[in-house]
Amino acid sequence: MGDDSASKVYVANKEKACAELDMYSEMYALPGDTTEEELIALVDKLNEDPNIHGILAQLPLPKHLDDKTIINRIRPEKDVDAFHPVNVGKIMIGDFDFVPCTPAGIMELIHESGVSVEGKECVVIGRSNIVGKPMSMLLLHENGTVTTCHSRTRDLAEVTGRADILVAAVGIPKFVKANMVKPGAVVIDVGMDRDEQGKLCGDVDFDEVEPIAGAITPVPGGVGPMTIAMLMKNTLTAAKRAHEKK
Ligand code: NAP
Repeated sequence: MGDDSASKVYVANKEKACAELDMYSEMYALPGDTTEEELIALVDKLNEDPNIHGILAQLPLPKHLDDKTIINRIRPEKDVDAFHPVNVGKIMIGDFDFVPCTPAGIMELIHESGVSVEGKECVVIGRSNIVGKPMSMLLLHENGTVTTCHSRTRDLAEVTGRADILVAAVGIPKFVKANMVKPGAVVIDVGMDRDEQGKLCGDVDFDEVEPIAGAITPVPGGVGPMTIAMLMKNTLTAAKRAHEKK
């Protein structure tokens, strides 16, 4: 909705991924002054449409709309972003179909790299509902010893310096410096930030941290593409579940 330039790029990438996978998609670019009633009517229409298995509202919505009202309106079985409270609760108890796409993509990267989480010190910087919190929960489900940090954490470098697996989801360019990282640690950079020159960069100072890290994800080209891949996976899961119910 509206003119958010980052949202336009994200939505275009999602449409492209659907096209590449031959997955049918519909995109509704709504004007910024669309009312809550109009948006709810669209969500309800898609909720009822048996040909649509996944619905997502690209956030942020314009200020006059409440994200929560719209997210809660999407049927949990079509909530492929896994933001609906029912899906959030399922993640908490470890019995879920959908996982929020960014943490799911990170787990996939960890698994594909042959890194085991079990028993490891895992530190997540950030506690947002879409990244930090579900990330911590997924690491806990895999038997990591998890610490979640935020803006009030005391002596952050001491905490992050204990991490075997460090996930940075802060939203501050090049925030994680070499002195905050244990040599050999697996460092996962979720950030999508802009440096002083306006160039895309992450939350980790890659040039400083890369030489001491055991493994590190780059920005761009690390977590970002995984997020879209997991959205496609969640949509496929939703379609399978819908067919199983028939
Ligand atoms: P967010 O909602 O702004 O949350 C940022 C978190 O960082 C908050 O929990 C905040 O703590 C914490 N924080 C801020 N300053 C801190 C400090 N000085 N020390 C320690 N913690 C601090 O951000 P988000 O939505 O989780 O996104 C984080 C980053 O990931 C952004 O750069 C975003 O663009 C990127 N992102 C990327 C993808 C992808 O697909 N690659 C997807 C989603 C997000 P408080 O809670 O105390 O305020």
